[in-house]
Amino acid sequence: MATSAPVQRPQLIHIETDRRLGHEWDEWDGKPLPNNGDYAAPPRLFFAYSALTLLVVGAAATGLLFLLAPRLGALWAPLPAALGWILAGCCGAAVLWFAILLASFYGGVSLLPEALLERGPYLRMMNVTSRVARWLGRRDWVEHAAIDVYNTLAVRRGRTVGKGELLVLIPRCLSKGALDGVLAIAGRYEVPVFVATRGQLARRVIRERRPRAVVAVACERDMLTGLRDVAGKLPVLGLTMQLPNGPCRDAVLDLATMESWVKGLVGA
Ligand code: SF4
Repeated sequence: MATSAPVQRPQLIHIETDRRLGHEWDEWDGKPLPNNGDYAAPPRLFFAYSALTLLVVGAAATGLLFLLAPRLGALWAPLPAALGWILAGCCGAAVLWFAILLASFYGGVSLLPEALLERGPYLRMMNVTSRVARWLGRRDWVEHAAIDVYNTLAVRRGRTVGKGELLVLIPRCLSKGALDGVLAIAGRYEVPVFVATRGQLARRVIRERRPRAVVAVACERDMLTGLRDVAGKLPVLGLTMQLPNGPCRDAVLDLATMESWVKGLVGA
């Protein structure tokens, strides 16, 4: 009599269908997020990863130059040495800037204008560091720490704008409680709120409304792309959320922080 081997059931991956995932979460496997979707991390995590990033980028550029040196030398004998000096200068400038960033953050006084600190090289550094953190599986925590450092430096500038010049941008995934809280704050300080369902729409709202400052709410992944696209041109404070029910649904946020930012920006 033929016996049948036990049939192996394919592993079921439970993916919620009652939500639309942002593309940043395309690879989510439906499992609960670590620590209930709270990626809080200290600033030193970002600084450690960005130091590693500087090291990796510097080593990669040096290695490439070393490999290409014979060919470059055949083109023009002094070329490898000249490029070596340029590379050394760039590495030195990057290390000096990083030291100034550390001193500004921990010293409590920004030592460079914002275009040279949080709204300039910092945004680029944040993006490259996020890629390194992605390879090492610590993306969300490192991005959270990076956004916290950015916010600390940006809040410290003490900028104020008129009520109509501030825009609050929120995502479509807020829980009812969080949404009610945001609307109550916006009502108290008479600032407009927009739900930005996609990054593209957020940029359109900004183009059309022409605010002088933005308080944006998003998860770490969405916030990083948003800051990269907008924060270089416009002052933005970015409030990250917790995702207790996984990405793109029922997100909660720190309403006290949001209120203090809105209040500070409108000078109330
Ligand atoms: S902000 Fe919300 S909706 Fe947008 S990608 Fe993040 S979790 Fe999803």
